[in-house]
Amino acid sequence: MKSLIFALTLLLPLGACADEAEDNFVSANLISIFYHEMGHALIDIMRLPVFGQEEDAADMASVLFLENTFSEEDAVSIAYDSALGLYAESQNETDPNETAWGVHGASLQRFYNLVCLFYGANVGTRDDFADDMGLPAARAETCEAEYQLADDSWGPIFDELFDAGPGDSIIYTGSDKGFAQEIISGEVATLNELLALPEDLEVTVEPCGQPNAFYDSSLVRVIICTEFEPYLRKLAP
Ligand SMILES: [Zn+2]
Repeated sequence: MKSLIFALTLLLPLGACADEAEDNFVSANLISIFYHEMGHALIDIMRLPVFGQEEDAADMASVLFLENTFSEEDAVSIAYDSALGLYAESQNETDPNETAWGVHGASLQRFYNLVCLFYGANVGTRDDFADDMGLPAARAETCEAEYQLADDSWGPIFDELFDAGPGDSIIYTGSDKGFAQEIISGEVATLNELLALPEDLEVTVEPCGQPNAFYDSSLVRVIICTEFEPYLRKLAP
């Protein structure tokens, strides 16, 4: 995993201080998790069929949001940091049984899946990203087709939402003070400028007693726990 260490140094551009790198890492992982929860929300609101693990489908949706709503430069930066977040989490997974029975795939597998999908979305320009993340050639071969399948599956849904936008269907109800709150409320504002959901969705950042994020289908509500930000700051390389 030497290439990952090389990638960590890439994340600190000349002149950037460690605090700035940490903020970027935390911000990227909050964004990536938020769009993962948006994937769960879309599956519920749009009554989408899911053939496979819903958690994998939500991870795919997160990469597709990244691909469809950010500039190339920002998308690449977020992909580096959120992949490294999954890699760091994989290093904390000490019980192989717990890793295997969990509803999410193992973090190391989620890391490679994210790297592969993001690389597969634009293989012409993202060789460096795949190399820095240590994506083996044997997996890299299938990434373009894997992204194509994800885009064929989610693409028509995204088209429908983007065609209906802009709108005000995503309602942020958290505080507007605080780092995580500013990031998430900013993403909600951007989404409303780009798309509209067929049903209102509430998004909030609030304490929930654990560093996590959820989609609650009974309330049609995405909750990013306030505990997530300090957890990510500790996780930051
Ligand atoms: Zn999930």
